[in-house]
Amino acid sequence: MALTDIGQIKDILQRHGFSFSKALGQNFLINPGVCPKMAESACEDEGLGILEIGPGIGVLTEQLSMRAKKVVSLELDKRLIPILNETLSQRDNVTIINEDVLTSDLHSIIREHFPGMRVSVCANLPYYITTPVIMRFLEEKLPISSMVLMVQKEFALRISSPPGTRDCGAISASVFNVCNPQYLFEVKRGSFMPMPNVDSAVIKLKLRDKPVVEEGSELFPKLVRGAFSQRRKKAVNALSSFFNKDKAVFERAFEECNLSCSVRAEAISMENWRDISAYLSTRL
Ligand code: SAM
Repeated sequence: MALTDIGQIKDILQRHGFSFSKALGQNFLINPGVCPKMAESACEDEGLGILEIGPGIGVLTEQLSMRAKKVVSLELDKRLIPILNETLSQRDNVTIINEDVLTSDLHSIIREHFPGMRVSVCANLPYYITTPVIMRFLEEKLPISSMVLMVQKEFALRISSPPGTRDCGAISASVFNVCNPQYLFEVKRGSFMPMPNVDSAVIKLKLRDKPVVEEGSELFPKLVRGAFSQRRKKAVNALSSFFNKDKAVFERAFEECNLSCSVRAEAISMENWRDISAYLSTRL
């Protein structure tokens, strides 16, 4: 069955009495070129285990299962489970789990389903959970080697802009600390059914062996959040009001780290963040 063929999709959805849920970010891929490219980027070797989020009717799942050793897909919408059982009936290396990616026990799922395997994440993410999903995977230190994700194009550009560049934001700095982000390719809105209001893009986040910021690693996310909380202001002023501390504390830190006190958050490079975090970790 061609899972990007609109006629066939409509037929199977109708047979199962399925209607799209906007709240669950259900925009299914109908451009046949996209899933093979995503799967190719995610499956770096054949022995890999892939954790997929939100398989929908299985269009990406199918491509992943042709390239990976095993695929486990978490789908929140229980109405899609019988559809997936039908569309993926020929794929014996796929397991579907009817759970919410934001609340499921991901450590146990990985341990149980991928023993001794290298694991990567791949997903056409519902937009409403993009940031929480990425932060969950990174903050909980899940044993994964990369994430290939379809996200809103604007978000993709922001997250692949390194700290110290104009488009970077608080989340870019946190992600950059533990990942090497790559913007892979754009996907136009007409590639989905129903068509969303914005274009998308695929990014790859490859996890670093160790984070850039090691000394002061607890403080770093708060510093980034504080500096970007008022991104039009000088970073020292934003930090001073965020931490409710005298501005001189931050001016001193910036000077010690050879950074001008007049910079805004977006101009602070990853190396600067590493130095500031280390310096302030014993002083805040
Ligand atoms: N992978 C399919 C594709 O590319 O056509 C569907 C992608 S669609 C953008 C997002 C999918 O994620 C939907 O199937 C939706 O039901 C599912 N989903 C939404 N919220 C979820 C959550 N919290 N946990 C797991 N799946 C979720």
